[in-house]
Amino acid sequence: MKSKWVEADAAERVARGANAGIEPDLSLRIYSTALLGSDPKLVLHGGGNTSLKTRARDLHGEEVEVLRIKASGADMAAIGPAGLPAVRLAPLRRLRALEAVADEDLVAIERANLIDPAAPNPSVEVLLHAFLPHKFVDHTHASPVLSIIDQPDGEKKCAEAFGGRLAFVPYLMPGFGLAKKAIEVFERSRPSDGLILGKHGIVTFGAGAREAYERMIEMVTLAEDFIARNTKPRTIATVSRQPEPVAAVAPIVRGACSQKDDQIEGAWRRLVLDFRGGADVVSALESDLTRLGQGGVVTPDHTIRTKNWPLVLPHADIGELDDFARATREAAHAFVTRYRDYFARENKRAGGGKRELDPLPRVVLVPGLGLFGLARTKREAAITADIAEEWIAVVRDAERVGRFESIAEAEMFDCEYWPLEQAKLGTRKEPPLAGQIAVVTGAAGAIGAATARAFAAAGAEVALLDVNLAAAREQAKVVGGSPLALACDVTDGGSVRAAFDQIAAHFGGVDIAVSNAGAAWQGRIGEVAEDILRKSFELNFYGHQRVAQAAVKIMLAQGTGGCLLFNASKQAVNPGPNFGPYGLPKAALLALMRQYALDYGADGIRANAVNADRIRSGLLTEDMIASRAKARGLSERDYMSGNLLSREVTAEDVAEAFLHQALALKTTADVTTVDGGNIAAAMR
Ligand SMILES: [Zn+2]
Repeated sequence: MKSKWVEADAAERVARGANAGIEPDLSLRIYSTALLGSDPKLVLHGGGNTSLKTRARDLHGEEVEVLRIKASGADMAAIGPAGLPAVRLAPLRRLRALEAVADEDLVAIERANLIDPAAPNPSVEVLLHAFLPHKFVDHTHASPVLSIIDQPDGEKKCAEAFGGRLAFVPYLMPGFGLAKKAIEVFERSRPSDGLILGKHGIVTFGAGAREAYERMIEMVTLAEDFIARNTKPRTIATVSRQPEPVAAVAPIVRGACSQKDDQIEGAWRRLVLDFRGGADVVSALESDLTRLGQGGVVTPDHTIRTKNWPLVLPHADIGELDDFARATREAAHAFVTRYRDYFARENKRAGGGKRELDPLPRVVLVPGLGLFGLARTKREAAITADIAEEWIAVVRDAERVGRFESIAEAEMFDCEYWPLEQAKLGTRKEPPLAGQIAVVTGAAGAIGAATARAFAAAGAEVALLDVNLAAAREQAKVVGGSPLALACDVTDGGSVRAAFDQIAAHFGGVDIAVSNAGAAWQGRIGEVAEDILRKSFELNFYGHQRVAQAAVKIMLAQGTGGCLLFNASKQAVNPGPNFGPYGLPKAALLALMRQYALDYGADGIRANAVNADRIRSGLLTEDMIASRAKARGLSERDYMSGNLLSREVTAEDVAEAFLHQALALKTTADVTTVDGGNIAAAMR
């Protein structure tokens, strides 16, 4: 591993900091923290932490000695001054005299001693940093180091790899106990460069930022050299079997890793998937699957993202999807049972009182194909997958130099259910569509875009499909979460299937399809050319059928129900003169919606439609509004609000109606009217 320290960059950082009133040491602390955070071989997503001992002025204007320590869960790659809250050092150090400190007391003491009372909570490893005497302390979970220390004889391997430069601290869970043990070991053996925290990570220190950082890089390089020197010869695994594509496998995995809600009939707890199928992952699954399947985290804080062991599935061989689906459901069921037993056993040992987390898998291994990370959002699923990839790399190297050994079950439980670790995941209330995946067609149009925004705001992951990809991408920029924009022409069956395959491969499946794409054609029905009528049916009827069919196929593979939503029109109920080419397929669309409700109700798939009228959109442009208002002798405002309530109806109103239908778990075959009141178009 090479040092990324560039003296000119560091000097520039110090100069820029000085203009903003930031002291040089803090600027350098931020610079080297970001260097460490930028390498996934050192830390991943909020793991690891750094600190600086310096002085600061408190609210009374008095200068005091402080520890600037990374905030709990903050990402080192993106750190700034606010991510390194300052805590009074003396009160932290006084804690060393105590025998034990309760978690709540520790957090209270930290918060009471923050220089800025509004600052985020310091890292859970704050005391480890506070007790060490060095000005700069860096702590990472470097992968090559983990491969050496996650071993039955980790201490011996460390002595061989690092000599006396790092002292070995046996495993203890992070917190007060580990901090006390670490300073005892340090004072006894006075290592020159830092500490190894058994089965957890590495600490380096120094009088300057560069010294602490470059010691970290040098130690990690020694670990890499040790692995290279000691690697046992091994056979290269080759994959000869042909797997089903990810798009076909993912919905089966996702469905099996969902859980029925015991409180709300028809509701499911679902997860979003992130797939990794690189050559390294696939070959590791061939050669080390047995070891990986036994599980065990490579460093304790991964447990909150990955759980302690993965779900291992059989090969998904081509043409044998039914067998794979059966085996997947059985394996997922066995996983849940095993997790519940583990919780019951360990909760009892720990004195009871813990609340069980959901028992669903977070990492799924499919030999021959790759791995899935699972979480409640796409962003978090990608974090889980990143951690799982690094976990595989560490275990594989550990097996090359010896035998991978993780912490014991009781130790894993203590970390997984440690309130300070759980706090990193946040406690915010989840939005109503969390874990669900929604597809919107015609997503670049006014109603489609408003619907995509409304569903994302309600917590769904959203795929925006439109025949105009650039316009869909434009809309995706203003949708929250992690939207996926795809080109899709609903008049082309191949285009629809390809788009749904991409969605299934990207998010893991589909729960809600809002079939919205449409366009209007006019003509007096007795005289209109047949090809006009056919064109309109192709888009305004068959387009919906293709989308619904593709969505239902995925929903059935998941086995967790779903929801089809159609944009019908007032024309479906109340035809307008010379508007037959548009109204007739829309009338057929209402019948289509009812047919889906009828044929798939037993599968928990609901089908509903929104009947909206007079919305400013691509179908009713500003020019059309002006000309129609003029033709009727009305102002534009009066024309647009020409309904019983005299209120203009907007695309957002239609989006809210779709959202309501998605959430109404006991409603199917429903038409919701959003038109301000038009008695001729009232449903009867
Ligand atoms: Zn750590």
